[in-house]
Amino acid sequence: MKTEILGIRFDNLTRQEAAQQGAALLAENKFHYVVTPNPEFILACEKDPDFRDILNRADLVLPDGIGVVYSAKILGTPLKERVPGIEFASDMLSCLNDMGGRLYLLGAKPGVAQQAGQHILDRFPNIVLCGTRDGYFRDEEDVLLQVAAARPDLLFVCLGAPKQEKWMARWGAHTGARLAIGLGGCLDVFAGNVERAPDAWQKLGLEWAYRLKKEPKRIGRMARLPLVLVKAAGQRLRGRQRGGEE
Ligand code: UDP
Repeated sequence: MKTEILGIRFDNLTRQEAAQQGAALLAENKFHYVVTPNPEFILACEKDPDFRDILNRADLVLPDGIGVVYSAKILGTPLKERVPGIEFASDMLSCLNDMGGRLYLLGAKPGVAQQAGQHILDRFPNIVLCGTRDGYFRDEEDVLLQVAAARPDLLFVCLGAPKQEKWMARWGAHTGARLAIGLGGCLDVFAGNVERAPDAWQKLGLEWAYRLKKEPKRIGRMARLPLVLVKAAGQRLRGRQRGGEE
């Protein structure tokens, strides 16, 4: 079941349910893509209807940011829980490991995808790492040819939004992969270059604050995020006025 939050139709699933649905996509012999929008995506979509369309056409739309979960609550259509992209990615790696499947890592600065791949293989030794490539390229088609030649089952596309979603929507079906996931900065985390917030921060919904503490230069990007909550409140109030609730 989909829940619409400010124009994006999210799948309302627990992490476990998302993992089950992801596993089914990975088992099916055709291309699928999964997106993991956070509040920055919602703001970007306001100016970029193509991006919104690409998100809404995805096979799974998972709420990556706590701001999405709060917005859903404000709108009166709560989501079951936050499903962080990195956790969904780990669940898919576990599934791929059981299958002995092939993984391609696309994105991040030179050398990062390779390092991430090494760490992933340490945890999931049955996976075949069939290729890696950094995310700073000009020729999209050339990247497609490299990915397709590696014949992946699972493809992580980590180019930042909306580049990664646009790449998946345009080229994904030609890669031969069964499942591509847009995962932002996840390769930096798998590589060990960026640390995730400790559990206590995550449980309090403060992963964003921990990230800001570690990377203060993100303040400019993050300063706009409460806007999403304001927009959700505005939409709720307008809905009530129209519905004559108050
Ligand atoms: N990136 C890339 N190609 C680009 C721009 C960004 O591969 O042209 C990578 C960047 O190195 C980083 C990731 O994309 O690893 C995006 O990180 P960001 O912090 O924007 O994503 P978030 O963690 O917020 O999802």
